[in-house]
Amino acid sequence: MQGIGLTRIPEARLAEALAEATGAGLRALPKADVHCHALLNAPLAAYEKVLGQKLPRPPARFGDFAEFGEYLAANLFPATRTLDGMRVLVRAGLERMADEGVVYAEASIDLLLPVHIGAPAAAVVELVAEESARIAPRLRWAPEIGINRRIPPERLWPSFVAHVQSGVFRSIDLYDDERSGDLRDIARFYRLAREHGLVLKAHAGELCGPERMRKTIEVLGVDVIQHGIAAVGDPRLLDDLAASGIQLNVAPASNIALGLAASYEQHPIHTLLAAGVNVALGTDDFTLFGAGLCDEILRLHRAGMPVSELAKLRLGPPG
Ligand SMILES: [Zn+2]
Repeated sequence: MQGIGLTRIPEARLAEALAEATGAGLRALPKADVHCHALLNAPLAAYEKVLGQKLPRPPARFGDFAEFGEYLAANLFPATRTLDGMRVLVRAGLERMADEGVVYAEASIDLLLPVHIGAPAAAVVELVAEESARIAPRLRWAPEIGINRRIPPERLWPSFVAHVQSGVFRSIDLYDDERSGDLRDIARFYRLAREHGLVLKAHAGELCGPERMRKTIEVLGVDVIQHGIAAVGDPRLLDDLAASGIQLNVAPASNIALGLAASYEQHPIHTLLAAGVNVALGTDDFTLFGAGLCDEILRLHRAGMPVSELAKLRLGPPG
């Protein structure tokens, strides 16, 4: 299984782009951001615009995942309580990506948004379809259904079915604290999505170890893992990932800000590539981590990743 068919950018083109000191070369390359969350993709200024007030800057490093959640709840969530606010944020995130040369993005929309906003699921889905069509000349957005694993699955099921049946979404993802919830309770979400031809993704191997990552692959049958950096702790899992072609959508800035990797130099991405694992990149939550896709590529290169290794990453849009 080759994930979602992303392409590689040829070594010569990457070398040429990186040699361009202004950064314009990297921005001009058509790129894919395949791990991001639509509302958390917007610059912090878009939140300030919706709320009509200044917000405290996120810390460069969060103490732990709980502190990260607290920042979100206290500062960002209040901007997501109306359809108008949601539209401003989604649009700002898509524009930001298009401005840095992202031409294909898998950005998730949380299933709880209709409840959070107090609108029917159909209104949120319609907004997604409208914004997707609006940005289409610059960027192909493959909308993703985001499932929060801390919410009881039966509460999310009716909304999930409506989202899947809308035909607007291309993939599903499961996120928030990997240590919570039972994967078997969520398996029917993955079966339904598969029946409708959606790509199956889940966060794993971020906060948890390789065993939980293996379980996610077995129980949910995912095509793509978001993060997956814990695989470097299990050579057998690395071999299995390389053999199966399961893609890992890695987000280094996020991992460093949450203390899961010490630096770009010591990030597990180097080991994943050396093991022959299929790796793509994503920005995860730009609002909090402040690194775009061009930043990620440049920082990896400056941290010693040669162009020949960068060329192994699935940085290009589906062919
Ligand atoms: Zn994520």
